[in-house]
Amino acid sequence: MKVLIGTGNVGKLKEVLAILGQIPGIEWVTPAEIAVPDVSETGTTLLENAFLKAQTIAASTGLATLAEDSGLEVEALGGGPGVRSARYAGEPPNYTANNQKLLAALAGVPDRRARFRTVAALALPDGQAWTAEGVLEGTIAEIPRGVGGFGYDPLFIPLGETRTLAEMSADEKNALTHRRRALEGLRSVLAALARCD
Ligand code: IMP
Repeated sequence: MKVLIGTGNVGKLKEVLAILGQIPGIEWVTPAEIAVPDVSETGTTLLENAFLKAQTIAASTGLATLAEDSGLEVEALGGGPGVRSARYAGEPPNYTANNQKLLAALAGVPDRRARFRTVAALALPDGQAWTAEGVLEGTIAEIPRGVGGFGYDPLFIPLGETRTLAEMSADEKNALTHRRRALEGLRSVLAALARCD
């Protein structure tokens, strides 16, 4: 069964393939191989955006589609930037500008608690859909550290760790993240769909 990974974000794409790449009977298709519509993230929650992306792309391409929406929720910012994480510092989305804005917003703030949240959605062209959520608790570092990963990784220290996500190998990051936890929630659905195909 072919399943399209409905994201143009190369960092996310690599992680999805590393985490779910080897499910028997699933042939992964990427946006490099097929024309995928650009879906505006108009939802007000991660769940709405994940469904919107998966269902719109599945209907338009005729392929089962896995999509996700993620956000960083910072305690001292009342849960922000949350669903606005990609565009926290404005348009066009820029990782360095986002990280700088976050550090400025937390300057002198002792409460550095934060969490990453991912909502993953799997949709079929007929509209059927499944969803799963994953969370990773942690804190925001005082300065960016590391060159791995993407986005806010240089600033995010998972609970119980001293390194940021960007200081870990890809395998170490993928073993513990919000994205892994969300995607693992869809593994059995994907396996069952592949068996019925
Ligand atoms: P969206 O899910 O495409 O709306 O993007 C959410 C934004 O959150 C991304 O552009 C990144 O800046 C950030 N983000 C999502 N997942 C991660 C992650 O695993 N590490 C670091 N930043 C992330």
